[in-house]
Amino acid sequence: MSGRILIVDDMATNRIVYGARLSAAFYEPMLASDGESCLAAAQSCAGDRPDLILLDLSLPDISGQEVLRRLRADPRCRDIPVIVLTGNQDPAARLAAFAAGADDVVLKPAADRLLLARVRNLLRARVGVEFEAEGGLTPGGFAEPVMTFVPSGTVALVSPRPTEARLLQEDLSAHLRDRLVVLSRTQALAEAAMSGGPDVFVVQEDDSGAAGSLRLLSELKSHQATQHAAVCVLGRSSAVDDAAMAYDLGADDVAGPGVTATELAVRVRSLLRRKRAGDRQRARMQDSLRLAMIDPLTGLYNRRYAVPQLTTIAKRATETSTDFAVMVVDLDRFKLVNDQHGHAAGDEVLVEVARRLTANLRDSDLLARIGGEEFLVVLPDSGIADARQVAERLCEAVEERPILLPSGKGLTVTVSIGVAVAGGAVSIDAVVQQADLALLDSKGAGRNQVTFRLSAA
Ligand code: GH3
Ligand code: MG
Ligand code: MG
Repeated sequence: MSGRILIVDDMATNRIVYGARLSAAFYEPMLASDGESCLAAAQSCAGDRPDLILLDLSLPDISGQEVLRRLRADPRCRDIPVIVLTGNQDPAARLAAFAAGADDVVLKPAADRLLLARVRNLLRARVGVEFEAEGGLTPGGFAEPVMTFVPSGTVALVSPRPTEARLLQEDLSAHLRDRLVVLSRTQALAEAAMSGGPDVFVVQEDDSGAAGSLRLLSELKSHQATQHAAVCVLGRSSAVDDAAMAYDLGADDVAGPGVTATELAVRVRSLLRRKRAGDRQRARMQDSLRLAMIDPLTGLYNRRYAVPQLTTIAKRATETSTDFAVMVVDLDRFKLVNDQHGHAAGDEVLVEVARRLTANLRDSDLLARIGGEEFLVVLPDSGIADARQVAERLCEAVEERPILLPSGKGLTVTVSIGVAVAGGAVSIDAVVQQADLALLDSKGAGRNQVTFRLSAA
């Protein structure tokens, strides 16, 4: 985790004091004395940008709020977390800072322990957001507007005091169009065991102190179903240590006892926006992982995935002194299908052949599309007799029924198969080569048939 922190303050003493505190905590402070130099640093090239900004609201050139608005409007820096440090206690000024995109607003002088806990917490959350920032541009290269439409979500108010929670629910509902539900702690924990639960949990502390809410916070952050939900801890006291502990346990926000419903609503919206960004980022990661190993046309594994899998199967065969079979399956005269019926018909044939191959193999067998109209099948723990039976079944399954083309016509296709059976420590390349040669034999002998080549152990 990198830790370049930009301190923006017109007072040199403040810059020096905060800089020294951050250095002592092993962060790398960067200093700016006005709004323009803050923006210049935040908009510089990727490697030079700060990872977090501590922003004073009263600056000599442009207001801190304007700086926030510009940071949030620029795709290069809109995801850099900003903690506003202010001497102004006015609730309207705090609210305006949150609305302009501050991640937190901390009253000066900020307690070291709390400030550092908040810095750690936001930097940790940022590790996940960087990918989103890179991919956040629309195809045309234009940034999405900052306050993008956030679909409404579910916000759970978790409280040991149901009456108070219902009042808060009523107050918040005037500002939020999200679904607001009141849960007891036990109910919140039950949500942790189910998926599709709330997007944001607002956890109220009880009178006896913070222990109960902190425990619930760690439970929510450790269960699979709720670990990506945002948690805001609503403190009963202004105890710095409790707030710092909540940040270190992964709270996404900690609001003090004096927070108004209007401010809480703005903060909940911002948590919801961040939660959605995280959801999108995870979905994209999963998509790219999938794309890296799946052939988009047939949904089968691709060559890139298949080769290391084959290596693993071969290794296991050596360890267990068993045989395994490698087959190369190739559509017969497939070029003619494209030429006579069109490319879309050819695609449909590939998809249907992939389905029939899948239906006639075991889950433990490996099936991949390794070329245009060529498939690889690997049968672990199989000798010649097993392999012959399977290969013949595959030939029959492809030939037995005509494939329905997009035009409505039916078309019968066939495949040729080359098989090599191997055991012991043979090279993967040699086995696949034997299967390829066997395939050529099948083609040469008239197609729609199975040929074996034995791979020496
Ligand atoms: P053989 O029986 O000797 O294998 O003849 P063939 O026509 O099947 O083999 P050839 O290698 O000459 O042609 C393969 C054809 O497969 C050519 C190519 O256009 C087609 N092909 C490869 N990938 C795709 C694809 O994704 N979709 C479609 N529709 N056709 C494809
Ligand atoms: Mg072919
Ligand atoms: Mg081919």
